[in-house]
Amino acid sequence: MADMTREAILEWLRAPQAEALFERARAKRVCTKGRGVFLRGLIELSSICSRDCLYCGMRKSNPRVVRYAMDDETILACARLAERLHFGTVVLQAGECAALWSRERVAELIRRIKGETGQRVTLSLGERSEADTEAWRAAGADRYLLRFETSDRALFARIHPGASESGEHPRMVQLRRMKAQGYEVGSGIMLGLPGQRLESVADDLLMFRDLALDMVGLGPYLVHPDTPLGVDAMQSEVPVSVDFTCRCYALARLLLPEANIPSTTALSTLDPVRGRIAGLSSGANVFMPNLTPAELRAGYQIYPGKICVAAPEADSLAALQRTFAQLGLEQVVG
Ligand code: SAH
Repeated sequence: MADMTREAILEWLRAPQAEALFERARAKRVCTKGRGVFLRGLIELSSICSRDCLYCGMRKSNPRVVRYAMDDETILACARLAERLHFGTVVLQAGECAALWSRERVAELIRRIKGETGQRVTLSLGERSEADTEAWRAAGADRYLLRFETSDRALFARIHPGASESGEHPRMVQLRRMKAQGYEVGSGIMLGLPGQRLESVADDLLMFRDLALDMVGLGPYLVHPDTPLGVDAMQSEVPVSVDFTCRCYALARLLLPEANIPSTTALSTLDPVRGRIAGLSSGANVFMPNLTPAELRAGYQIYPGKICVAAPEADSLAALQRTFAQLGLEQVVG
């Protein structure tokens, strides 16, 4: 299955229904990863961003965002919570702001989190220099998440001001570089972007395998009305649905049998009742509960109605454990 062709992938993306695909992905997941679900505590360090990505609610030109930045002690407190809950890993994510998240400050944060809480550290701080990621790796960072969003170069350039349409995809350059630096590397895409085509999603999925990703994060594109893309009337060939998202989880699982694949917050936001059950039933084996202090979460609305803002109890540990039990899965530390 890991040698699946572009045509076979497209067939699944277009098929009237994909129950047999989900079945195969579930079996593969149990075979390679067992029945465990890894929890990663997501800490959203700051909603201050110097970028203007056309789809993202946190873009710098959106005046409605409540901008915040956590101090080091608050971040450490979130990491201690992850330790108490036996997560094993924290994910430090933020809007891009090199002034706020300097090489030295992040390196010191990594050292403190690892030293004081024993949690593994995953970074998700956007496009950064080789020297920055090198220093953070040396400080003990284990993993880095950077979605390439789409492998369609024209579409990527259209939604990322300043990105060029030619040459290698800038995020793929960084992903390959971080792989060489010894990170476990994660990437992914959004599904249903205006102008996105099914063929390009097939290419994205094949690119996951080509990059030999350790982690794959993908979710539906959710319209944010205060963004340029949110008012773009252009249609997408790619459906924004639980079913389609899960087909991509399943295909990612078959292409990369060993990868860690989260059932994402965007999927749970699209369908708070069925989202994560469907995700964990189609090949995903990771869930990322939000550990950002509740009073700050509303500031980090990359899309509206984020489940951890609208219904903070939905990803409580008790609710999660009920879901896992229902599916014959269990939380594991790692
Ligand atoms: N600044 C960091 C973190 C960005 S938020 C970085 O660039 O890596 C993490 C992910 O959220 C993005 O990579 C993107 O795939 C997703 N995202 C942003 N806006 C979204 C939207 N409107 N709908 C769905 N997902 C979105």
